[in-house]
Amino acid sequence: MQDSKFAKGMTGLIHHPYTPPAGFAAPQPGVFKASTVYFPSVADMRQMEWKDKSAYTYGLHGTPTTYTLEERLCTLEGGRQCLLVPSGLAALATVALALLHSGDEVLLPDNAYGPNKALAEGELHHYGITHQWYDPMNLQDLASKISPRTRLVWLEAPGSVSMEFPDLPEMVRLCRAQGVWCALDNTWGAGLAFKPFDLLGDGSGGQGTLAVDISAHALTKYPSGGGDVLMGSVITRDPALHLKIKLCHMRLGLGVGANDAETVLRSLPSIALRYAAHDQTARALAAWWQAQAQCVQVLHPALAGAPGHAHWQAVCEHTPGTGLAAGLFSVILDARYACAQVDAFCDHLKLFKIGYSWGGPVSLVVPYDLAAMRQSWPAHLQRGTLVRFSAGLESAQDLIGDLSQALQDHLPVL
Ligand SMILES: *Cc1c(COP(=O)(O)O)cnc(C)c1O
Repeated sequence: MQDSKFAKGMTGLIHHPYTPPAGFAAPQPGVFKASTVYFPSVADMRQMEWKDKSAYTYGLHGTPTTYTLEERLCTLEGGRQCLLVPSGLAALATVALALLHSGDEVLLPDNAYGPNKALAEGELHHYGITHQWYDPMNLQDLASKISPRTRLVWLEAPGSVSMEFPDLPEMVRLCRAQGVWCALDNTWGAGLAFKPFDLLGDGSGGQGTLAVDISAHALTKYPSGGGDVLMGSVITRDPALHLKIKLCHMRLGLGVGANDAETVLRSLPSIALRYAAHDQTARALAAWWQAQAQCVQVLHPALAGAPGHAHWQAVCEHTPGTGLAAGLFSVILDARYACAQVDAFCDHLKLFKIGYSWGGPVSLVVPYDLAAMRQSWPAHLQRGTLVRFSAGLESAQDLIGDLSQALQDHLPVL
């Protein structure tokens, strides 16, 4: 084929001289995008290794941008290896698909993140992997459900929606003693409230350290901080376990876009400040709810008397008064209010928006049908209608004003 003038011009455009900038020291790392990565020679192509990150070989295998984010997340959570996936749910699914085979069993807490339970009931069930739900507040129940077929135990602290904080150290010890992997959904703690690879907070980091095997994190929440990115991470500190998950990750073709990775890199330096602000506001709101006659129980692990409060203290509050918690809590409203009244209360909030997910600047509210989400109504919960709040970064006084107006108009004191 004869080169057209157009193709000649295009070739010049595509092979335009380009040298990445040197000596350009700026606060944010550059954003590197690639599917293709060039090799200097065929011999180099054959010999370069991506599994240990000693070379770049293909966009899906990692870029300078994703490696940078992975390293920073390891620093945040205290792990050694990290994989990025397109959502928090993909992180949970990657762990399950990498570790479980037909005939194995996985145990999940009854208060696990709902879609993780749906994964067990759906794909895992189809692949011949069985599951059982355990009572997160009853160590004996977990112990009795571990069998020779159990390969993986999921932990969540606190549990989704009902916010019970389990006895993480004892659960991890139990998994260790039984030789099963324990994976934590660490989205709530975010690497800030406690260290998943140093649960006792003794910082020894050695063999004696009490650590989960895997920490999965929905970066969608606090690391993103904007309500505008979906991403997840899987962090480990054992190279063999990491490689097992990494090979599955590669075979499934999971990867994240550089622009999304950049967004998380940009938000990460402020995560501790934002987390503390969400925490303070949530505690102010939770304390206010405790004084409202319409509310029969406030579920927030840092509140004295809340389910699992002592476990939260043990893991998150190594020095009294210093413990951190995320900006999430739930309330149980008096069972005598009709569902439609609770819905109207939520509808008439102005600052709180109705929506899933959390970790962004805007406060959110969602009413949940807890009875439909649990094996049975947990004994430590009062009966009533559960509403979950995520505190954003607005002023706590303004948020309380918003709650007050909607409460007065739609849930009059009985
Ligand atoms: C949001 C969330 C996830 C899933 O994150 P996505 O990015 O929305 O898929 C997983 N676990 C917990 C506890 C979460 O709150």
